[in-house]
Amino acid sequence: MLTTPHRPTSLAVLTSGGDAAGMNAAVRAVVRSALHEGMQVHGVKEGLRGLVQGGDAIRLLSSGDVGGILQQGGTVLGTARCAEFRTREGRRQAAHHLVERGIDALIVVGGDGSLTGANIFREEWPGLLDELVDAGEIERGRADAHNRLTLVGMVGSIDNDMFGTDMTIGADTALHRITEAIDAIRSTASSHQRSFVIEVMGRHCGYLALMSALATGANWVLIPENPPDTDDWEESMCRALTAGRSIGRRQNLVIVAEGARDRHGSPITAEHVKAVLEERLGEDTRVTNLGHVQRGGSPSAFDRYLSTVLGYAAVQQVLTAPGAEAQLIGIREHQIISSPLMACVRQTQAVADVIAAGDYGTAMAMRGGSFTDSFDIIRTMVRAHPRATAAETERLRLAVLHAGGPAPGMNTAVRVAVRVGLDLGHTMLAVRNGFRGLRDGDVDELSWMDISGWVARGGAELGTSRHVPAEVDLAAIAGQIEAHRIDGILMIGGWAGYASAHLLHTRRSEHAALGLPIVCMPASINNDLPGSELSIGADTALNNIVANVDKIKQSAVASGRCFVVEVMGRHCGYLALMSGLATGAERVYLPEEGVSLSDLEEDLEALRIGFREGKRLGLVIRSENVDPVYTTSFIRALFEREGGHLFDVRESILGHIQQGGDPSPFDRIQATRLASTCVEYLIEQVGAGEPQSAFIGLRRGKIRFTGLDRFQALTEQEAHRPLEQSWMSLRPVAQIMAGPGPARG
Ligand code: ADP
Repeated sequence: MLTTPHRPTSLAVLTSGGDAAGMNAAVRAVVRSALHEGMQVHGVKEGLRGLVQGGDAIRLLSSGDVGGILQQGGTVLGTARCAEFRTREGRRQAAHHLVERGIDALIVVGGDGSLTGANIFREEWPGLLDELVDAGEIERGRADAHNRLTLVGMVGSIDNDMFGTDMTIGADTALHRITEAIDAIRSTASSHQRSFVIEVMGRHCGYLALMSALATGANWVLIPENPPDTDDWEESMCRALTAGRSIGRRQNLVIVAEGARDRHGSPITAEHVKAVLEERLGEDTRVTNLGHVQRGGSPSAFDRYLSTVLGYAAVQQVLTAPGAEAQLIGIREHQIISSPLMACVRQTQAVADVIAAGDYGTAMAMRGGSFTDSFDIIRTMVRAHPRATAAETERLRLAVLHAGGPAPGMNTAVRVAVRVGLDLGHTMLAVRNGFRGLRDGDVDELSWMDISGWVARGGAELGTSRHVPAEVDLAAIAGQIEAHRIDGILMIGGWAGYASAHLLHTRRSEHAALGLPIVCMPASINNDLPGSELSIGADTALNNIVANVDKIKQSAVASGRCFVVEVMGRHCGYLALMSGLATGAERVYLPEEGVSLSDLEEDLEALRIGFREGKRLGLVIRSENVDPVYTTSFIRALFEREGGHLFDVRESILGHIQQGGDPSPFDRIQATRLASTCVEYLIEQVGAGEPQSAFIGLRRGKIRFTGLDRFQALTEQEAHRPLEQSWMSLRPVAQIMAGPGPARG
């Protein structure tokens, strides 16, 4: 008879199926979280094959064994296909190899195939142990002590095709690789006025194709879930591309998902698209198949963060519900959640079946709202001319401006806002240099092609300024709003922009013109704005920090070096904490917490112990405004002096590289979604009896608006940051990942 499962004391972790960037970060997180819980943890080499082989393929891991793997692409544990695991005999051997080591919990990072196989193993486990006892291979007592296998899965797959998680491990990195490649192709395509057909991975899922098209401003996209409407889809594609040429577009970029098909289910290949462009349009066309480049390289900041929190949660899941139905740990609506694993696998396979059956409406609906919204936005963006649907009398004049520091993604947002507005028949006005420009009447009209190429451009073409209007400016601003007949304002920017918009809004009783609807869209690398878990630009900044800290760490040729790295953030520790998680820092100083002399003494002591026990490299991240006295130089000098001969210390203030560079795919995609929703909101408000003003944001992964009059109630006015910051709950995970002990990384 089966007894109640006990709390597992020993677990095994493996990576299986296609490799995905972030798998190493997940393994590292599982190992360090399990050790923190006092468990033993084993790494299994070569996926499920290692379970079948046993011996050296399954070995105990220490915290130091997973040091330095966070930034590595692929999987250091290895992955392999395994035919034996598909047989009961293979799985019987696997059970033997686990139970003889006292392991009865398994964490698998893999695709739906691996997770299905692992679940079969879990279901058979009690029977497999009985067989082993009957064959005299293990003792009955041992079998009884491990009568249940606890299985927890995480999805490692670049396709982002799995239910139970909004993002799979590796998908964001793949988008980075694809976006970098297409940005590069765009410049050569544009130089030669060529057409390029780019094939990206995704046999049943158009996620990578759709999102990379959105992120790169591609001119046409073909995905499995939504085949072209008509039989002669080639004709509609050619018409759109010809129209683009006629308005001066220098390149055509067509993205084709591996599994793209027409209405009848016949595959659409990149070669076919090339032939069409050459024959029907006489275009000089090249095909690029991005192939395995998409899988490779160092994981993005998001994949490192995601894998770390998922790995931590997987261990918690093993401990909270040992022996229970297998669970899948994923991220949904910005929250880490667990769901029954097999239900997720079944739903995932159902989409593939629906596509195969030609029921494309259902396939799109099953992908969810943001997938369909993204597809609709692309349809607007690829047009060569606006549809101008608004009636003459309903045409509005909408202004776009920036305020605050520059944030990568600002240009992307302006491009979308302008095209969506023009497409609906409105006039779009650019205000240069923020609210100062508005005061001075620095306003001009933007046309469809004025913002061509802005999707991928860093910086802020319209100019931005931290100037918040003074009382005396308000009358001038009201005057300009009247003079330019501005009906609504979209402010894309940071704290200064929110404060300025709020000021205008509160003075509308004194200046009637200030009563127009204003919508603020969060664009700041600091991620310090209310009403949104994320602001545009923060992801790019994080990736900039992570890439540079990776290099800084590599520069430590000699052992015994500690780096003190200062990052931006103004009064918000988001960049510091997230970059600490993503680079494996042992200590992060946040402005929300401050730092005291005794903190520094404790940290120094921990460093001394670490280096004495063999640690080779130390990393401390300090947010720029943690403390006016305990500056980065101060901490460097203190650690240097007190570290003595054990270690030396270098400081690095990353500075403005954090604000620069081309926006990351995530920032481009979110900027696109938010800006398009903002323009729709403004139009709706102008038409409303009592127009509202608001800030837009992503909350629990969804786009939501908050009334602009709540700005002060939701923020710490002195510290310039929101009262609630959900990312603060990640501090314990960061601590566990750093933990005590030598040879961190
Ligand atoms: P992915 O995990 O990326 O979907 P695969 O489908 O190739 O990759 O599966 C990886 C491995 O998982 C297979 O080589 C096999 O060992 C195991 N596996 C997959 N499906 C099953 C199954 N139905 N039963 C047992 N093992 C399976």
